[in-house]
Amino acid sequence: MQFAEVYLPTLKSVTATKTYTYSVPSELNDTMKLGQLIEVPFGKKTLPALIKALTNTKPDFATKDVSHIIIDIPLINTKIANTIDKIADYYLSTPHRVSSLFLPKQLLGKTWEPKLNKKTGKIQTSSFIRKLEKVELPPNLTPTNEQAEIIAAITPEIQKKIASSHLILGPTGSGKTEIYLQLIKKLKPGQQALLLVPEISLTPQLAQYFYNHFGTEVCVWHSELNATEKKNAWWSVKNNETRVVIGSRSSLFFAFNDLGLIIIDEEQASAFKQDQNPRYHSRDVAKQFSKEYNCPLVLGTATPSLETYQQTLDQSITLHTLTKRIFDTKPPSIQIVDMKDEFKKGNYSIFSDDLLEAIQTTVASQKQVLLFLNRRGFSSSIQCFECGHIEECQNCDISLTLHNTPNKKFLQCHLCGQFEHIPTKCSKCYSRKIKNIGIGTQQVEKTLQTLIPGVRTLRADKDTTTAKHSFQEIYTSFKNHEADILIGTQMISKGLHLPKVDLVGVILADIGLHVPDFRAGERSFQLLKQVCGRAGRLQDQGQVIIQTLSPTHPVLLSLQDDNLFEFYTKELLLRRQHNFPPTNRITKFTYVHANRDTCLKTARQAEQNLRSMQIKFLGAPALIFRQYNNYHYNILAFTDQPQTIVNKLAMDPGWRIDRDPLDTV
Ligand SMILES: [Zn+2]
Ligand SMILES: [Zn+2]
Ligand SMILES: [Zn+2]
Repeated sequence: MQFAEVYLPTLKSVTATKTYTYSVPSELNDTMKLGQLIEVPFGKKTLPALIKALTNTKPDFATKDVSHIIIDIPLINTKIANTIDKIADYYLSTPHRVSSLFLPKQLLGKTWEPKLNKKTGKIQTSSFIRKLEKVELPPNLTPTNEQAEIIAAITPEIQKKIASSHLILGPTGSGKTEIYLQLIKKLKPGQQALLLVPEISLTPQLAQYFYNHFGTEVCVWHSELNATEKKNAWWSVKNNETRVVIGSRSSLFFAFNDLGLIIIDEEQASAFKQDQNPRYHSRDVAKQFSKEYNCPLVLGTATPSLETYQQTLDQSITLHTLTKRIFDTKPPSIQIVDMKDEFKKGNYSIFSDDLLEAIQTTVASQKQVLLFLNRRGFSSSIQCFECGHIEECQNCDISLTLHNTPNKKFLQCHLCGQFEHIPTKCSKCYSRKIKNIGIGTQQVEKTLQTLIPGVRTLRADKDTTTAKHSFQEIYTSFKNHEADILIGTQMISKGLHLPKVDLVGVILADIGLHVPDFRAGERSFQLLKQVCGRAGRLQDQGQVIIQTLSPTHPVLLSLQDDNLFEFYTKELLLRRQHNFPPTNRITKFTYVHANRDTCLKTARQAEQNLRSMQIKFLGAPALIFRQYNNYHYNILAFTDQPQTIVNKLAMDPGWRIDRDPLDTV
């Protein structure tokens, strides 16, 4: 008698950490294979199940019979099954929830089969590309010496199928994309490559670049694909008709046959971590695949994560450095302006005299300006000058942001999205002396239009890019010089090729610098470094002006010195002193409850237990204690074995467990 050990991809429970076993009826004995999708009884229902393994050993408990086979083509292989178990274990999730990542829900419907092209008999793939706009590409160049050396170093590992890890560290415009392309070209026929990017919609040029070289063998996986397109994409990878997959983190979970190379561009990006159970990091899943498929993993960035940087020091990741920009452009000159000095001069404007003058000069000489402020809206809050009260969201403990555009004026909570009317008096003391405080991108745009009459501006933030394609439209319009100035949040920091941008202005660098999180410095450095990299991309040297209230902050000084290694060395030392990653591993346990007292009581009880287990931890209410009407309490446990905590505490489902969290507040 045969038994099938299965995953139940639709089982949402966060505590079902074991697989299930069913007996195989004799009539199915010869047809059952690992990876098939079958139907099994579960309680009073039936559920779809993925076969993880088949065995002849009778388990020591009673088993029910498999109902029938739904899809007889194996959907996953042993390598994927191993990876499912590893992810579930490491991230304290369940194998069932993890297995669902590998199974697009379109496959669970009646029409799971791919749509074939009538002429070629192949899977219909043309639609993956049609939504890409034609963009002008940088000229094809022969690789520089630096590029050629890196390609030569990694190529043998691709050919010999070695599970090695590499970091390509190079500034914006140093030609990492060309290296990715050349490495993918080294794959043998039948081998597949995966290129992960943080957000495909922000990198239209990259997708186009690969499409130009690989044509329909490229699958660009993005959120705008419809259900049929997603299903076809999945099958075209499974059937080896797609050789190169470019996509966001979910494209890790295609059923690759023979993965020969994995590349993660902008490896430090927070988009690579999933914020729901299973809270995996793409880099770690990719590393696991690299071991399973015996293929190199290549990380690329101008500003690595501290974790990756530490591993280059340990030499578990090989470091390759690109020092030159392709066109031999000099790095931009960086000027730091102390806004306190401006106040002393009596200048209370958003713009320092230097930045305003530089903007005017640049615009007058037919060049373009990029202005960065990582806060959308018009003003970050409304405060009463009589009693000090700040208007807050009724569901969350944060201030409401004022939105003020020609079309609409309203208050909004940037956490839960709640809208409110703009008050005329303080909701606490009814005084009429209420004022907007804190600047957002809308205010920057409006102020510019007043200061420089006739200036053409564009704004890119979450409020202007809600419609499909919108970021790309703004970007294309700016690139065609239909505007002089682009104002934006962090979305303008991504890989834009904008040759006419001569000046980058950072309106207020302090946002993000003082967040009480151990990664605040690292994040700010990475973000500001990327933003600075947008200045002067062709032959000219660019100019960057950073406005701040903390001109001697180490992050800003390292940026100005253009000294990446100095910053990383200091930052590593700080982390070591405080036992934070990458020196130690931490797991964040967050207790969430609608009742404030229950939340605090449960969390404090857990802290008591951790003390008795002699596990080092930090516990505190979340920076925003109440979010969406639920109270949040964080406990950061400094341990390599968070599983022992889960076992011992018999934690209720109100706990969210995040191993290697990206933020701790
Ligand atoms: Zn908003
Ligand atoms: Zn008041
Ligand atoms: Zn809210």
